[in-house]
Amino acid sequence: MTTTLEQTSMADAVARVNFRTGAFVDGRFVESLGGETYASENPATGKVLAHIARCDTRDVDRAVQAARRTADCGIWSRMSPAGRKQILMKFADLIDAHAEELALVESLDAGKPITDCRNIDIPETATCFRWHAEAIDKIYDQVAPTGPENLALIVREPVGVVGAVVPWNYPALMAAWKLGPALATGNCVVIKPATQTALSLLRLAELASEAGLPDGVFNVVPGPGGVVGEAIARHPQVDAVAFTGSTEVGRNILRYAAESNLKRVMLELGGKSPQVVLEDVADLDYVAGHAANAAFWNMGENCSAGTRLLVHRRLKDALLEKLIGVTRQWLVGDPLDPATRIGPLITKSHMETVLSYIEVGRGEGARLAFGGNRVLTETGGNFVEPTIFDGGRNDMRIAQEEIFGPVLVVVSFESEQEAIALANDSPYGLAASLYTDNVHAAHRVARALKAGTVAVNCYSEGDMTTPFGGYKMSGFGGHDKSIHAHEQYTELKTIWMQFPTE
Ligand code: NAP
Ligand code: MG
Repeated sequence: MTTTLEQTSMADAVARVNFRTGAFVDGRFVESLGGETYASENPATGKVLAHIARCDTRDVDRAVQAARRTADCGIWSRMSPAGRKQILMKFADLIDAHAEELALVESLDAGKPITDCRNIDIPETATCFRWHAEAIDKIYDQVAPTGPENLALIVREPVGVVGAVVPWNYPALMAAWKLGPALATGNCVVIKPATQTALSLLRLAELASEAGLPDGVFNVVPGPGGVVGEAIARHPQVDAVAFTGSTEVGRNILRYAAESNLKRVMLELGGKSPQVVLEDVADLDYVAGHAANAAFWNMGENCSAGTRLLVHRRLKDALLEKLIGVTRQWLVGDPLDPATRIGPLITKSHMETVLSYIEVGRGEGARLAFGGNRVLTETGGNFVEPTIFDGGRNDMRIAQEEIFGPVLVVVSFESEQEAIALANDSPYGLAASLYTDNVHAAHRVARALKAGTVAVNCYSEGDMTTPFGGYKMSGFGGHDKSIHAHEQYTELKTIWMQFPTE
């Protein structure tokens, strides 16, 4: 473990960035109508990074009006797909050109390791916009197989104004997963970043404008979820709302939609994903590497984190030993140090929650096999060691509830049937990993796991070509990524034409 949090290098980094702090409405930065701001902290130091516009319902209304006007005038919604493509491709190029700046902003604001921001978050954000842009002028509508007296077109049209509410764990990327398909299909968007992590999204909106996106297409309204998020989800002029976050807030979003204009709702919610290791696996070093990544990547603040390691009893001790060996190499420290794998948790209160779950695990009788402590307290940051519980049972709270921190619980099983039952014994169903050297078992068990993504012999959410969404309480209403994401941001229209018969 490193304890080299360098306050001076942090100060230098902060000085290098010119943070955008206003709301972004109708193509420009504006103060909140009430003139209020809130402080956004750096989770690695506890210091204030920037003061950001604290918007309220009036600001949401202003942004929605701008989006509505823009949607209805057709400047974007009726632009040719090739035209939209050109602008969004330029936007992706600008993200690439500003990748180092955006990675730094993301690392400072969210406490994410700079290496992950540089190698994953920001490049993937550009890839997301580019992928949807490239797709949009290659998708054909349909002609129905009618008789000669009719012509029936089945066409897709933008839903209009899309509201989006996103979390703090992958601030730019989760926003891109909504914005990419929503913008490519011709919608105008009003998006709320998580309170803690507005900075990268505000800069992205400015870059999109620089790329030629018309004013009013991409609006960002920062502020508290219970005010701004609720106002977006209740607004009568918002046609659809896409949400990524907790199951609890997802339930609220559904209610807001039901109580207002029955807008379309897309929910990407929490998870408690299993990693299943069958008895036949030979290379436990390989599994240990992936298992640690599944549990500890992004500090475990990851909706698809593989936080339940279900291992055949015969392999359990050997795998645990290797896993501990790998986990020792996950350095906790300054997120700006390229060697750091684990940065701080997002807030003090979230860190307290994670630490309290570690106490719960102890109290439930699981054995702490590694980690378990807050560390680097002298930095002022919210650092928690990667933590492994052995001897877990799937009915323990630490195996049932989403902790959203670097805490892994190991549970052993005797048979494939038991493994499937344990894996599926969860209110969630976002993702799962399966390790086996037997191709028959791979297919059989992958089909039996109730999860939106099943990764075989790896930890993965697939790539931009594959849909991502959950079973059960992990959400419904649509999927992020892939061409399937376009369905949720478009209306399906039938145009039925009658011709005189001869
Ligand atoms: P959260 O509390 O649900 O917050 C998510 C977003 O919702 C934030 O922007 C938040 O604003 C806003 N919000 C809060 N209360 C609201 C309300 N009453 N009405 C409307 N919006 C509201 O979740 P989080 O703690 O930020 O993120 C962690 C959760 O997200 C985990 O459960 C995780 O599994 C899930 N997640 C899921 C996915 C996925 O793809 N399925 C991806 C990432 C994360 P404030 O910031 O102002 O509170
Ligand atoms: Mg912050």
